[in-house]
Amino acid sequence: VRLGIFGGTFDPIHIGHMRLAIEAAEALNLDRVVLEVAKLSPLKNRCFASDEDRVRMAELATEGELKLAVGCVEISRPVPSYAVETVEHYQNDEAEIWFLMGADSLLTLDQWKDPDRLLSLCKLGVAERPGHPFDITGIETKWQSRIEIFPMRQLDVSSTEIRDRVTTGMSIRGLVADSVRHFIEERRLYR
Ligand code: ATP
Repeated sequence: VRLGIFGGTFDPIHIGHMRLAIEAAEALNLDRVVLEVAKLSPLKNRCFASDEDRVRMAELATEGELKLAVGCVEISRPVPSYAVETVEHYQNDEAEIWFLMGADSLLTLDQWKDPDRLLSLCKLGVAERPGHPFDITGIETKWQSRIEIFPMRQLDVSSTEIRDRVTTGMSIRGLVADSVRHFIEERRLYR
């Protein structure tokens, strides 16, 4: 089984996250992509959505997408969560694991917890944004063969922008799944 793990705070999940998961599955021939919702630091989550609401939004967004699922490894553990520990959890003899991210996240790889062990357990699938070619020579040579860059369409959207739009009363239609938009409205999130 070729398994993708895509971690994020997903506060809230938006079309950029969804397309990354879907395009990774297509480009890397993954059987399944699990979205792992990271736990928010108790210091940071005061005005944003709760862990439960972020998981629920990820579930709503992935409903009916056969290859996408929401995982609860990180959310059920104390902060902080580390990629290497999440991957260890999914590790088994049948799984070939791909840890997915945007190219911006890869730049900090050397600051992650135990990157050598992480890259011994999984490969990294990195979404490259058109117009922003990713220069892999900036990454340590020993890690390069474990990293695959795949092309991804540019979607200029972030969770920060969505939260700001909700706070200022602007529309988020088209930027998140309709089910997620309805959930944000009903629960009055990000006001
Ligand atoms: P925030 O605005 O709150 O910082 P975010 O939109 O960047 O959030 P995260 O949950 O922090 O979302 O991101 C998780 C992963 O999704 C990261 O690896 C990031 O590179 C990727 N990502 C986020 N937005 C996009 C996008 N528009 N296109 C491609 N990748 C994205």
